[in-house]
Amino acid sequence: MAHPERIVIVGAGHASAQLCESLRKNGHEGSITLVGEETWLPYQRPPLSKAYLLGDFERERLFVKPRTFYDDARIDLRLGIRVEAIDRAARTIRLSDGADVPYDALALLTGARVRPLDCPGAGLSGVHYVRGIDDIDGLMPAVEGAGSAVVVGGGYIGLEAAAVLRKRGLAVTLLHRSPRLLSRVASAETARFIETLHREEGVDIRLGTTISAIEGTGRVERVGIEKTNADHVAADTQEEIPADIVVAGIGVLPNQSLAVAAGLTTEDGIAVDETCRTDDPAVFAAGDVAWHPHGHWGDIRLESVQNALDQAKACAAAMLGDPVPYDATPWFWSDQYDVKMQSAGLPQGYDRAVWREGEKPRSGSCWLYAQDRLICVEAMNDPRAYMTGKRWIEAGVSPDPDAIVNVATPLKSVSAA
Ligand SMILES: Cc1cc2nc3c(=O)[nH]c(=O)nc-3n(C[C@H](O)[C@H](O)[C@H](O)COP(=O)(O)OP(=O)(O)OC[C@H]3O[C@@H](n4cnc5c(N)ncnc54)[C@H](O)[C@@H]3O)c2cc1C
Repeated sequence: MAHPERIVIVGAGHASAQLCESLRKNGHEGSITLVGEETWLPYQRPPLSKAYLLGDFERERLFVKPRTFYDDARIDLRLGIRVEAIDRAARTIRLSDGADVPYDALALLTGARVRPLDCPGAGLSGVHYVRGIDDIDGLMPAVEGAGSAVVVGGGYIGLEAAAVLRKRGLAVTLLHRSPRLLSRVASAETARFIETLHREEGVDIRLGTTISAIEGTGRVERVGIEKTNADHVAADTQEEIPADIVVAGIGVLPNQSLAVAAGLTTEDGIAVDETCRTDDPAVFAAGDVAWHPHGHWGDIRLESVQNALDQAKACAAAMLGDPVPYDATPWFWSDQYDVKMQSAGLPQGYDRAVWREGEKPRSGSCWLYAQDRLICVEAMNDPRAYMTGKRWIEAGVSPDPDAIVNVATPLKSVSAA
């Protein structure tokens, strides 16, 4: 593809702000149009389920860049406008305000949306989600007047929300379908650590449990729950829990309908190669929506700031005709109470997990191996373990797991076999 003159970006999220910056930094002089259906400038989502929900983080600080950045970088910002369709033959997109915008290269950075609850009563007032600024601005006043909450979902979002709600003094019951927390996104050892943490903080955790109905007159008053069996299918035992609010964090769905309608290949996300290119050489995707090949872990869709930023950089390079394969080691963090969890690599496909106790209270790290190769470290209140593990994973170094477990040996003395 010749150097594109007109670049159009769909979605004004974290990845898009980075893409704008990288395109200009890499020398793109032509036009950049950024279309986002939210009315906000691109913002960071991580504080939403943490300090922002707690009321400790000003909204202005959420924005990835100030408005002046977009003005200075000559970005044609179209906020509060949805892209309705892509005409790949004509190379134009159709906007919700009726305009058609032509492109030479198109980036689909449409992210993901929350998976909605589908039980009876899911539409009642008092049912909340945790994805965007508007969600949290609606949730905060509801928390103010509430005494109890049911959190649905024991992934990172649900757990972070539960931690904030406890800090705000609510009685919290947390439901999770699987027999253990963080079932898709962390090792069993780390999940146990996090479970203990939340139980110590007073969260009533119900594992192997799902929501069956939300009841109340006009607004949430109680939640029906039922046990799931080993296959996570609802089994018979039923119970009712009083609740003033329900907060759901049961995962997200990639925003890929535009790509599907345009005939691009999709899986669990828009399929791209390792340079962020779809099967149309003029169309790219990155961030939460991108289904991409990722080294040891195979084809995957990642939901993290690191992935959004690094993939946006790779996307800029590819759009400008200088592709660099994207293979950054995934890293992630989560804050719950006084625990900062940091991980490098992905907790998938491992056959051995070893735990190293930390030096401080509420600390420790889990080290995951696949066929003797270190593939992931999850560190709780232990930045040294995180940094060391990340460095080893990036260098392809796999220390002896028995040496890792031995807390008498400082990590720096563990031989990097
Ligand atoms: C509450 C919360 C806490 C998080 N905490 C962490 C954390 O601690 N650590 C971490 O690494 N990651 C965290 N994440 C994940 C991280 O925020 C995401 O991975 C990141 O925001 C993805 O950026 P993105 O630009 O790909 O997508 P998004 O941020 O989802 O942005 C996509 C944008 O595109 C818009 N859009 C979609 N379709 C259209 C259309 N047709 N037309 C116009 N606009 C459209 C969407 O409305 C959205 O604004 C968290 C996420 C949430 C929600």
